[in-house]
Amino acid sequence: MMDEYRGVWVFIEQNDGKIEGVSLELLGAGRKLADKLEVPLSGVLLGYEIKSLSREVIAYGADQVYVIDHEVMKDYRTESYMKAVINLAEKYKPEIFLYGATSNGKDLASAVATDLSTGLTADTTMLDVEVEKRLLEASRPAFGGNIMATILCKKHRPQMATVRPKVMKAMEPDPDRHGEVIEEPITLKEDDMRTKVIKIVKDVTKKVNLAEAHVVVAGGKGMGDFQNFQLIHELADTIGATVGGTRDVVEAGWLPHEQQVGQTGETITPKIYFAIGISGAIQHVVGMKNSEFIIAINKDPQAPIFDVATCGIVGDALEIVPKLIKEFKEARERGGEMSYV
Ligand SMILES: Cc1cc2nc3c(=O)[nH]c(=O)nc-3n(C[C@H](O)[C@H](O)[C@H](O)COP(=O)(O)OP(=O)(O)OC[C@H]3O[C@@H](n4cnc5c(N)ncnc54)[C@H](O)[C@@H]3O)c2cc1C
Repeated sequence: MMDEYRGVWVFIEQNDGKIEGVSLELLGAGRKLADKLEVPLSGVLLGYEIKSLSREVIAYGADQVYVIDHEVMKDYRTESYMKAVINLAEKYKPEIFLYGATSNGKDLASAVATDLSTGLTADTTMLDVEVEKRLLEASRPAFGGNIMATILCKKHRPQMATVRPKVMKAMEPDPDRHGEVIEEPITLKEDDMRTKVIKIVKDVTKKVNLAEAHVVVAGGKGMGDFQNFQLIHELADTIGATVGGTRDVVEAGWLPHEQQVGQTGETITPKIYFAIGISGAIQHVVGMKNSEFIIAINKDPQAPIFDVATCGIVGDALEIVPKLIKEFKEARERGGEMSYV
């Protein structure tokens, strides 16, 4: 029975005709798994007037794209998307099925896993396969991040996992790659749907976009108190960076949750990450370790943050940060330009 299941699938999430970055990253990760298992990599693309996106899915590594292009699929709804994905999975039987851990991806993956009576590993940070047994090895921090657990789904298919944005790397797109587009018919009708999308209201509140920032100045509990934490904002303002922080800082009320970096916050990959007064707990590190250049400032030379830092300064942040602010301000006055691209 299990031998009937072959192939690696990636759910391609698109919003307003634009593919989410995490889906392209998963195509990169899925490509490696498919190559090891010697099976095709397929994308599952649902929506309305989205068929042309198949080309992009192939360019980013897929061999095949299953497309359901229908008005009923225009906006994401658990009911319609779940039914469509389940029909496809029952018909073509993939052995591995990956989803981005976005709001919609998590919603869909859990609904599909329940209906197909299979397992789902959430918020995976590493993926591999045991080729002989064709087992997906989905690893993620567990028990409060104190250990990495590798989770297997031995008895059910497909093996499913969600992966957060920015954890995996997308391949360089190759517009000359060839692939097959398989258009699937759909029997669902709008009248059969129990839910209707009346209106989509976009959240227009001004949000700090940590995920897009090139430079992040992050502060931790080592800053001492809310007043001292303002130095983090001042340094960030001086160099045109975005402010981030640890969970302890968020819990202390020094920063809103949307600026928290880590396992229960954002996973980010800026070009430069300042970690100031941050110990480097695993739950924090999983959210920033893939930054290109990490500068740690901590008074404890044994602090684990130095293990992931590109360079470190051992000393009192309350002395060092004002000096950095002064130096950067003076450099700017001398006409120095800050460019990170
Ligand atoms: C399930 C779970 C999920 C979690 N999710 C997250 C998450 O998403 N993000 C996250 O960040 N944490 C998360 N945590 C919490 C995490 O385990 C740590 O408790 C937290 O990251 C520690 O924050 P911190 O580094 O600010 O504080 P501390 O660990 O208290 O570190 C403060 C550091 O500052 C240094 N220091 C002190 N004074 C100075 C000074 N004057 N100058 C320079 N250095 C100084 C100290 O040497 C120390 O290294 C989670 C925990 C659990 C259990």
